[in-house]
Amino acid sequence: MAEKYDVVVAGGGPAGLAAARAAASEGGKVLLLELQAQIGGQTQSASWVPNDLITPKLRRAVVLKLREVKLHSPHKELITRGDFGAIVDRRQFDKLLAAEAAASGAELWLSAPVKELLMSNGMVHGILTEVGGWSDRIEGEVIVDATGAGGEWSSLLLRKVMGRDWQHERLASSNEYLMVNVKDEKSAEFIFTSYFAPGGYAWIYPLGKGFAMAGIQGVRIHPDTALDEFIGKQAPPRLAGAVPVAAFRSQLPLGGPLNQTCADGIIAVGGAAGQIYPLSGQGLRYALRCGELAGKVAVDAVTEGNVSKERLSEYERIWRAEFGFEFKVGKLLHSSLGVSQDRKMNAILHVLKGKPRLQRAFIDVFTGFNLKGSLGVLLKNDEIARVFGREVVKALTPK
Ligand SMILES: Cc1cc2nc3c(=O)[nH]c(=O)nc-3n(C[C@H](O)[C@H](O)[C@H](O)COP(=O)(O)OP(=O)(O)OC[C@H]3O[C@@H](n4cnc5c(N)ncnc54)[C@H](O)[C@@H]3O)c2cc1C
Repeated sequence: MAEKYDVVVAGGGPAGLAAARAAASEGGKVLLLELQAQIGGQTQSASWVPNDLITPKLRRAVVLKLREVKLHSPHKELITRGDFGAIVDRRQFDKLLAAEAAASGAELWLSAPVKELLMSNGMVHGILTEVGGWSDRIEGEVIVDATGAGGEWSSLLLRKVMGRDWQHERLASSNEYLMVNVKDEKSAEFIFTSYFAPGGYAWIYPLGKGFAMAGIQGVRIHPDTALDEFIGKQAPPRLAGAVPVAAFRSQLPLGGPLNQTCADGIIAVGGAAGQIYPLSGQGLRYALRCGELAGKVAVDAVTEGNVSKERLSEYERIWRAEFGFEFKVGKLLHSSLGVSQDRKMNAILHVLKGKPRLQRAFIDVFTGFNLKGSLGVLLKNDEIARVFGREVVKALTPK
């Protein structure tokens, strides 16, 4: 007989691990399946996160506190200083999340790809996985789709239930190298260039002791060649003589979240739900919070014996109330700055020069870390508002 769980989580990234931990803490019988042979670092090896994401249990994953950011556009350069959060090692970060999920009672399976959803009359009631060459059918009252957006087997709700794919023109490709033999500098760098990274940017995150991450993301780029070309032709001097020792390729949906993030018997979270801030591609905060929400709502729904789309949409109502505005801002600004990107970024860096408060506001809005406070500051500057465009400013100004 097929095994039966209250909640089956597909995908062991941050969103899935947060969902598994929350569901198990609420008393649910929980299984998480991860297709890779280890938890951690599937999409990238280091992430920039705000301070409030670093709970005491996650502190071990912090590689450095970020105090300096360098911004480049084709003709301008700017250095800004402050407390910008932390760079975390994703291989550690995700494993620490896994420890929390396991401590709460969730069962974790590795090398276990979810290949199919089991469905009857439109209701999802289980998954099909392959473990050690054997197919296994596993029944679950609620399936949490935490498979991310970047892989062959990802995005189960979108592809298997809704029967479509991510909008190609809004899907950014990314490639990131872990590099060694790097000249140590403390700043993170962001390079805006429509030639190498249209609709995106290139970045360098310092990791200390001669290590750094160098990455690129953009729409309609070939991730393999774009990063090599960028490093070969335009990379900052600190990478001269550096070599890559690991590569991470992925895709990010930058069109905002799915219109529908649950259906009968299934909830999508994190990358699989498109919960990515479109302007910069940040997503860990949403993955953790939305994963937690999904786990709680799933167990409540199972307890009540009602896992219909209507019941599960409590999850959708809450996350939209918390983050809907952020995604709207990120999407509008990403669209606006994607047109005449070089000219607009030159203009923005020109205006920011010598204005630390405005620089801080720009970083906050770029990352989405402190959006509500900083958006007003940025929009009050006439020149910045002109660059964003009248329609965008109107749409973002509270009535
Ligand atoms: C290059 C790049 C840079 C980024 N930088 C930042 C940053 O600096 N800060 C930030 O906050 N965010 C950043 N993000 C976004 C962040 O990585 C995502 O928001 C976050 O990883 C989403 O978590 P997730 O759990 O939803 O998905 P993922 O982290 O993608 O995890 C999905 C997991 O599901 C597994 N999986 C996929 N399909 C299946 C299947 N069928 N069965 C079983 N398992 C499956 C995968 O192996 C993976 O482990 C970046 C993303 C990229 C691509």
